[in-house]
Order: sequence, then structure tokens, then C-alpha cells
Amino acid sequence: MEYVQERPYRFRVDQRDGMRAPGVVFASPGLLRDAEKSLEQVVNVASLPGIVGASYAMPDIHWGYGFPIGGVAATDVAEGGVISPGGVGFDISCGVRLLTADDGARSLAPVLPAVMDGLGAAIPRGAGPGGVWKLGRAELEALLDGGSRYAVGRGHGVERDLSRCEDGGAVADADVEQVSERARERGLAQVGSLGSANHFLEVQQVAEVYDEDVAAAFGLARDQVCVMIHCGSRGLGHQICTDHVRAMDAAMARYGIQVPDRLLACTPADSPEGRAYLGAMAAAANYGRANRQLLAEAARRVFRRETGGGLTLVYDVSHNLAKIEEHAVDGGGPRRLCVHRKGATRAFPPGHPELPEDLRDVGQPVLIPGTMGTASYVLAGVARGDAFHSTCHGAGRSLSRHQAARTIGGKELRARLEAEGIAVRPLSPRSLAEETPEAYKDVDEVVEASEGAGLCRKVARLVPLGVVKG
Ligand code: 5GP
Ligand code: MN
Ligand code: MN
Repeated sequence: MEYVQERPYRFRVDQRDGMRAPGVVFASPGLLRDAEKSLEQVVNVASLPGIVGASYAMPDIHWGYGFPIGGVAATDVAEGGVISPGGVGFDISCGVRLLTADDGARSLAPVLPAVMDGLGAAIPRGAGPGGVWKLGRAELEALLDGGSRYAVGRGHGVERDLSRCEDGGAVADADVEQVSERARERGLAQVGSLGSANHFLEVQQVAEVYDEDVAAAFGLARDQVCVMIHCGSRGLGHQICTDHVRAMDAAMARYGIQVPDRLLACTPADSPEGRAYLGAMAAAANYGRANRQLLAEAARRVFRRETGGGLTLVYDVSHNLAKIEEHAVDGGGPRRLCVHRKGATRAFPPGHPELPEDLRDVGQPVLIPGTMGTASYVLAGVARGDAFHSTCHGAGRSLSRHQAARTIGGKELRARLEAEGIAVRPLSPRSLAEETPEAYKDVDEVVEASEGAGLCRKVARLVPLGVVKG
């Protein structure tokens, strides 16, 4: 694949046959070299009807279904721009929630094993059913409609959990009617559960602060203990993606749309099929938020019992979602765009009206998990952010699960991490091995490239103290 460097950390794939926009990849030369195969997918996404700006890729780009993971694409809704479920992914509204503990790392140390045992017992995980909140069908409908707001209204959390969550805890345009019976069935038994092994609940310590003022506004200080939760919408989101890819695949021809990969199936956002998916996707987004809310509550109970202290929400943000947002394109006026972020995090700049008031001067917290053996980051949105105010979402995989599990056994990995002072509560040795830190790119390099490309800036670096793995 041919590309040209436009400036440091920014490469362009020129528009050619079938592309409706160029490709733009934010990366260091080394990261780009490792991701070269995925550029094919960046080019495929550039063929989507109504795409504006470019088909973007973040520095953690890797191969996904249809869209690359780390892909961002926006289409103009008024110009027949499409929505593609593949641009959101199977784990709709997968995202990250970060909380701060009252204690510093030193006072936590003596009780850390008990905290980890408590979390290991309290956090449901694995592929199957089992969640901390058992609910009935009518309650599930209310949750799909009200997200975290419904959970907090039912006593599972506090008001601050809503003000510090993207969209105040719930997106407004959920359409429960568009969620199939099968999707509801799968969702019923999984509210408050992690899922499989890329998902985790981690106890972390702030190891470095890059911007004291912004960190303070986020409630972060050196040596502070944090809890990071990464999970999504479980079987419900997966089923919604499956259902609507199928429906769009069947409907595409009627709109005269052809795509180079079936997993890019799409219809205009403003069409019956597009609206149906957007409504179902919003319901799954509400489910994802409520899921993280319930897991945060479970972690709070353990911290309260073992440390006597509480957990305060820093922020909760999705990295697999499409949203209708207003953005200026190519120096023109604001346009209504359908912004797909798949394995990419929204990063609103200081002053953005949708930010909570107490964060408006500093910008949106951006939560970036790295690996259970290295580090994770808190970043902030910046004023002239690119790619419709988006940035990376993690370190990004460099080895497949299968390849990863061949490099090390789960028991050996656990012993190695424990020897490094990281408490590990895995589900199984195999699922742990699939997530070995070597299976991911270097998160420091990914964050460096994201900041260097002008997508965000560094606020703090967090290191793991203990991990509960799906
Ligand atoms: P994804 O949403 O693509 O599955 O994962 C997002 C990111 O989470 C990955 O790119 C990886 O960097 C990070 N990650 C996966 N497992 C862990 C973990 O156990 N701990 C931390 N801190 N990050 C992880
Ligand atoms: Mn996920
Ligand atoms: Mn995720």
C-alpha cells in the first residue's frame, strides 16, 4: 500500500478508484509499518457513500471485521451519508470507566490481596450468562431506554455517576422496538458482567502526572489508587450487530450501494434501516453504560468492606459507537455527521458544550487501557483535535489470541506478573495467556503518536496493581 507522510505522525493514502475520500493514518513510522495490512480496510471504508474528510485510522489501528479497529469515519446525513454497523463493531458501546479510590497506594498495600479476592469473587465474567443485577423483561426495556440513569434511579449509584458519564448516562434516541427478542434474551442475564478476556477490572496507581492542573480537575494525583473497568454490551450488543448487518446486507441493493466487503454493509443513516439500527445501537449503548455502572457498584461494595473507603467516578466513555454530531468540514460551516468510532475514543476539546460543567475548561477525560503488565493512560481532548475529535482507544493488538497463547502459558504468565507485584485474578490460564502484554503494541508509543499527531494530550500514566480478567 502506498502512502505519503504529510507531517510527523500523519500519513495519507491518496484517493483512487472506488475511494470517495483519502485515507489518513496517525502513527509513527514504526507503528504504521506494523499496521500496513490494515490499510486495506482504511481504503475500503473510504468507499462508503457520503463520507467526508477522510477515512481515518488511529495509532493503535489493527485488523477488524470490515472496518479496522482504530477506524474513524463520518458521513453527511443530509447527503445520503450511510451508517454501517461494522463501523461500530460487535461490542456496541464497549468502553472504559475510571474511578478514584479515597486511599493512596501505600495505605492500600496491606489490604490489596483481600481487595483482589473480593473483586475476583464479586465480578461475573466469562462468555456465558451471569450478572450482578437480575432483572425482568420490563426492567430490561427500561434499562435499554434509560441506561445508567435507570440504574442510578433504582439505587445503583449516585448522581455524580451520571454527570461524569458520556451523555449524562444515557443516549436519548434509543428505540427498544428495534431490539430483537433474541438480543433481549441474551441481554437479560448479563447486566453487570465483564465478558471475555480483553475485558477487565483493574486496580491501578497513578505513576506519573504530566499536567497537574488538568489532573486535579479530573480528581487525579500521584500515587492515587484508581479502578479501571473495560467492558461493553455483551451478547445483547453482539446480537444487535448481527441482526442489523443482515438487514442492511439485504437492503443495500435497493439504495444502489455496493461495498468492497460484506461487513461494511450499510444504508443511508436517514432511511428506515438506518434509523432502526441507530435506535437499536443506542439501546445497546445504554446497556453498556448500565453494565459498567453495575460493575462499579460491585467494586464499591468490595472497597467499602475491605478499605472503608469509596470510589468516585472520573469519567465513562465508549470507544465503539456511532453518533450524530455537528462538525465543520474543510473550513465550511457545521454539518450533521454520522461519526463512526470503532476502537477510537471521542475526545472533546475544552469549552465543548456537551462536557460536564466542572470539566468544561480542561476538556474531556480520555481513558486509554494499555495492558495488565505495562500501563494505561488518562488523556484530554485538545482545541484543534483532528478526526472529528477522536483519538486512540488502547495499545491495540499486535498478536492474535491464538498467536499470543503460543508464546506463554497462563500459569507462567500469572507467576511472572505476580513477581512484578501485579495481583492477578484470572478466569482461566488460557484466557489469561491470550492477553499477555506482548500481544499488544507499546502503549507508550501509541499515546506518544496520538499526542504528537495533535489528537489529545497526556494527563497521567497509571500502572497496574491488580487485575480481574474476563
Ligand atoms: P478492545 O476494546 O479493542 O478489546 O481493547 C482495548 C484495549 O484494552 C486494548 O487495545 C488493550 O490495549 C487494552 N487492554 C486489554 N486487556 C487489558 C488489561 O488487562 N489491562 C489493561 N490495562 N489494558 C488492557
Ligand atoms: Mn469490548
Ligand atoms: Mn473495548
